[in-house]
Amino acid sequence: MANILVVGSMNMDIVTRVRCLPVPGETIQGLDTGFHAGGKGANQACAASRSGASVTMAGGLGSDAFGRQLYSQLEAEGIDTSAIAIKPETSGIALITTEASGENSIILSPGANFSYSAADLEVLDFSRYDVILLQNEIQGSVNEEVLTRAEEAGVPVCINPAPVHGFDPAQLSRIRLLIVNETEAEALSGLPVESFGEARSAGKQLMKEGIPQLIITLGSKGSLYMDADGTVIETPSYPVNAVDTTAAGDTFIGAFTAAYYGGMDLKASLHYASAAAALAVSAAGAQSSIPVKGQVEAFLG
Ligand code: ADP
Repeated sequence: MANILVVGSMNMDIVTRVRCLPVPGETIQGLDTGFHAGGKGANQACAASRSGASVTMAGGLGSDAFGRQLYSQLEAEGIDTSAIAIKPETSGIALITTEASGENSIILSPGANFSYSAADLEVLDFSRYDVILLQNEIQGSVNEEVLTRAEEAGVPVCINPAPVHGFDPAQLSRIRLLIVNETEAEALSGLPVESFGEARSAGKQLMKEGIPQLIITLGSKGSLYMDADGTVIETPSYPVNAVDTTAAGDTFIGAFTAAYYGGMDLKASLHYASAAAALAVSAAGAQSSIPVKGQVEAFLG
């Protein structure tokens, strides 16, 4: 079983459906509102845990009702919450307004995610973990300190630099595994990434930063794996009726790291992650659509 530490974001996504997005100054009536646990850190932690990993989540929550709810949902998943810091700021909140057309507007208020600081990492024993997962929804200085402590403890770090805006590319030379989608691969490499061929060129460009292992996910096309030893693996996606692609990438990352660092071979881990992500896009929602290991194994047959 892989022992995984996720240092990252936890949000409450408040999603209100509307007939038509309001213009500035306008008050409109919403159709309905849903509350969904989210944040890339928590989503990836949840995906890894449901794929059988032992997961510790570290990050900041507010001492409000949303914080308590997010905390207890992680506990219910069996995720170790002892390194979560409770902050005086509000919990991270995503205010999402969505039209039937798919058009939406999102306000992401990071709150306690941004007040989680490098000093909060003190409670963690980094040497306990097989791998550490980072994203880019918390302060860059925290990721920086995680990289330093992971180096000291000799633990590999996997970064998913999402959202890519504001990500410090200097961190690329310090990680073991980079997992990016097409948009992030384009932003970091400066090259177009739509096909497997283009992903290979962008991947080669990125590997010049000294990254040992790299995965570029290509939505419904699948994923490309490359490493410094010259291994290249193209993994197709599983054709499914895509209902909601929210958290596809987070599911892929959590499932892949749980499988790979749990001892599954590389190719099988890539197929496993592809199947887990396919199941996640076949159902609506973010964390609610992330499958458990048994569902992925049954899907793979
Ligand atoms: P992100 O959610 O970060 O944008 P992607 O869209 O690249 O990430 O999706 C991650 C993975 O999820 C893909 O590599 C693929 O395996 C799977 N996936 C995404 N969209 C689909 C889809 N429509 N059908 C099947 N699998 C999908």
